[in-house]
Amino acid sequence: MIDCRHVIGRMWEYLDGELPEDEAEEIRAHLDVCGRCNPQYQFQIRFLSAVVASRPGEGAPSPALAGRVKAALDSIGPDIHPAG
Ligand SMILES: [Zn+2]
Repeated sequence: MIDCRHVIGRMWEYLDGELPEDEAEEIRAHLDVCGRCNPQYQFQIRFLSAVVASRPGEGAPSPALAGRVKAALDSIGPDIHPAG
């Protein structure tokens, strides 16, 4: 079982889709159950979605990342969608 420090340390790579699938799966499972990492994860999703939204098209981090952020937002639910 991975611990919180590992999850927090890998979170950007996880969000960017850079982790191998088995490690991403471990982190996903941890985020599902951890009351410490999950709020941190949701905060980073919100931050990323703001970055993606503020830089449409050219200069956006990557289409894959934008899609991943959107999918993560959808999976979390409507509560944290940024205004606008
Ligand atoms: Zn944790």
